[in-house]
Parts: sequence; structure tokens; C-alpha cells
Amino acid sequence: MTSQLEPMPEDWQRALAIVAHPDDLEYGCASAVATWTDAGREVSYVLATKGEAGIDTLEPAKSAVVREREQRASAAVVGVTSVEFLGHADGVIEYGTALRKDLAAAIRRHRPELVVTLNPDDTWNGTYWNTPDHRAVGRAVLDAAGDAGNRWIFPDTEAEPWDGVRWVAVAGSASPPTPWTSRPAWNAACARSSSTAPTSRPSPPKIRRPTPAT
Ligand SMILES: [Zn+2]
Repeated sequence: MTSQLEPMPEDWQRALAIVAHPDDLEYGCASAVATWTDAGREVSYVLATKGEAGIDTLEPAKSAVVREREQRASAAVVGVTSVEFLGHADGVIEYGTALRKDLAAAIRRHRPELVVTLNPDDTWNGTYWNTPDHRAVGRAVLDAAGDAGNRWIFPDTEAEPWDGVRWVAVAGSASPPTPWTSRPAWNAACARSSSTAPTSRPSPPKIRRPTPAT
């Protein structure tokens, strides 16, 4: 594995960020999103859940309302107005064809050149155990980027197949992902932050080439 990071590609116009929960993108990636929208690029968000299980002192029905509102507001701060929630249950997302189909359908609707997702590894850089939702959604995004372009896979989605995904950027992963799809997979080194909205707008994240498959 190399530690040399390479600049993010610049020759694209549409990106779609797909993550499990509200706040997932605000821990670092939203600053890159702000840079991209400032440059006139189009970025949309798709969230598998509303994060309704994320506040211990607030029951899920109420938490979902709060977290959806916060997510839409945070997206607006960085120039994102398209925010979709797929309605999966927070904390118990299962990796499988149903999830892959939902994500492939989203990719077909949005037709992105760049897909962004969050660390699907078992851990955060070998320190903390990653959540089941992050692992399931991250893996399914990498798979769905390929599924979306194959008209024989999930042929009954409303939107037409889209084979225009050129890169998948994975934020917060300590190791470059094996390219699970036929597309190059990139490891976006989006630094984690403690704020829910970026307070500064740094340069776009650097990316790391994946280790060649063996
Ligand atoms: Zn999360």
C-alpha cells in the first residue's frame, strides 16, 4: 500500500454521495462537497436511513424528524439541495440484493460520474469497530456502482441503466479498497471533524489509488 495520495479527478460535473446516516458526510466530507459546489459542480445526497436510532434520549419517531431537518440544513450550507432518504431502518441495515437495488436505482436516477461513500471497513483505521450500517452501505455502494450500468441486473427500476460512474471515492478508509466493481475505486482521505457543518473550505480531498487486485 502506498501512502502517496493523488489529487481528486477534476473532469466531472455530477456527484452522488450515498451514506447510511445523517451526519456521516458532515464528519469531513462536506468540506470537499462545498469546494465542489463552489466550483459549479452538482452534488446530491442519498441517505439510507434518517438516523432515528441515534439519540438515546429521543424516541425514534421524533429523532427522525430532527435529524432529517438537520441533514437538509447541513446540506444546504454546502450547496446541496437534493437530499433523499431511502427509509431503511437505522442500525439494522442488511447488506444484500434489496439494498443493492435501492442504491443502484438511486445511481440511475442521479446519473453521477463520481460516487462518494463512507468507510466500509471493519474498523476506523484499526482503532474503533465500524458500525454494521456503515459496513453494509459502503459495500453495497461499491457494488451498486457497477449494478447501475447493467440493464440485466435490477431491470425493473424506474430509471434507465446508468454506466457513467467513473470513480467511487471512499471517505475515512484506512486502506484502499480492493476494486470490487469494474470501476476504479478511490480512497478519499476526508478528514474527520467534530462539527456538523464545515467552518472552512479546504482544498478537495486527496485520493489514493487502490492496491491492484491480486
Ligand atoms: Zn453513520
